[in-house]
Amino acid sequence: MHTDEFRTRVRNFIAAQAPTGQFYDGVRVPRSPDAEGALRGWYASLFDAGLIGGSWPAQYGGRPDHSLRHDAVVMEEIVRARAPRPIDQVLLASHLIITFGTEAQREKYLPRIRSAEDIWCQLFSEPDVGSDLARLSTKAIERPDGTFCVDGQKVWSTDAQWSQMGVLIARTDRSAKPHAGLTVFLLDMTTPGVGIRPIREMTGSDEFCEVHLDQVVIPPEQILGELNQGWAVVNSGLASERAYVGANSVLLAQLLDDIVELSGHVDYLSGPAADDPVVSEQLADFKARVAAVQCLAADVVSQVIAGTDHPSDGLLAKLAYTELNVALCSYAMTMMAGGRLRPSGQPVAARLEHAMLWSRALTISGGSSEIVRNLIATQLLQLPRSW
Ligand SMILES: Cc1cc2nc3c(=O)[nH]c(=O)nc-3n(C[C@H](O)[C@H](O)[C@H](O)COP(=O)(O)OP(=O)(O)OC[C@H]3O[C@@H](n4cnc5c(N)ncnc54)[C@H](O)[C@@H]3O)c2cc1C
Repeated sequence: MHTDEFRTRVRNFIAAQAPTGQFYDGVRVPRSPDAEGALRGWYASLFDAGLIGGSWPAQYGGRPDHSLRHDAVVMEEIVRARAPRPIDQVLLASHLIITFGTEAQREKYLPRIRSAEDIWCQLFSEPDVGSDLARLSTKAIERPDGTFCVDGQKVWSTDAQWSQMGVLIARTDRSAKPHAGLTVFLLDMTTPGVGIRPIREMTGSDEFCEVHLDQVVIPPEQILGELNQGWAVVNSGLASERAYVGANSVLLAQLLDDIVELSGHVDYLSGPAADDPVVSEQLADFKARVAAVQCLAADVVSQVIAGTDHPSDGLLAKLAYTELNVALCSYAMTMMAGGRLRPSGQPVAARLEHAMLWSRALTISGGSSEIVRNLIATQLLQLPRSW
């Protein structure tokens, strides 16, 4: 289907099906059974309509005419409509199960992902280990009956409190080098010994959890991929995720629109912020920077679709997007602090305040800005490794 035609179809679908209400970026954990039902229904409908899961094998609902361009369009339109985004950890889980899973694992879990009966979380980070994940210390010890006994703690596990399943990485061979001796397990979150404690964030939401694993027994058929080969599994990139950078540039454009709107609702001593020449100069500068990130993101999406992207391309777009996001949000806060907000500006101010509180998180998740700069320096600029 032609991209424009497909985009219209997606827009119409979202307008008809997306749950309404306040869905700010990062706020996803449902607050009531009704909200949870609506969210699960929304995710299932996206699969049913073929708007996500298009790259899956045909017997699990994939489409023969699917291209990464479709993934990019769907995510852009979801962001544009401020509708809830599909959960990254669920997309990651399905990708890993399709790539590394046994046929039995695919048959068991993929239909339950499509129907949104199973939400998945990602159990990688630990209190002392994030960027340098290979040093993780959660251990899984094989017992004489072939099952594994897992002890340890995970943290920042997004959506764990309403997940049925988790992708867990644990150390299965403590004598091996850090990157070796790791294994990925598909963990049923209701297994005895799994303790989940939500963490309240400064946004007022609790999207993350601590997950305690106390003598959790996992059968061997829940290993994903090979024993002790978990590093390759967790590092298997998700192509559609790289195609989603275009959606992030939509988010930036929305943010700038919100700041322009805000400038009409904030009064400086001299009059409305929108009439201040210093403000217009700054907003024009931001417009140019947002346009530059949009071009960069569009280029990355094209390269990913053509299969010609360099490993650093997505990183460049991520760095540019997340850091500009912080700069835009900070500027909005400066504008509000320097003037008086009219009551008419409350809704846009609330959106921007939430965006500000959330903006730092995006410079950490999926690789912190410092790590991303290190990778760009070595991969793209061929500079010597300094860490
Ligand atoms: C929104 C969000 C969602 C997340 N969801 C999940 C999830 O679902 N599951 C999960 O397992 N984890 C999740 N995480 C955790 C995330 O993966 C980690 O926060 C990330 O890997 C960084 O690890 P850390 O927090 O331990 O920081 P650290 O690795 O301890 O880093 C601390 C600081 O030191 C810097 N630093 C570290 N190493 C270097 C270096 N070599 N050179 C220069 N600077 C360095 C970092 O940039 C950072 O500023 C999430 C995080 C966020 C923000």
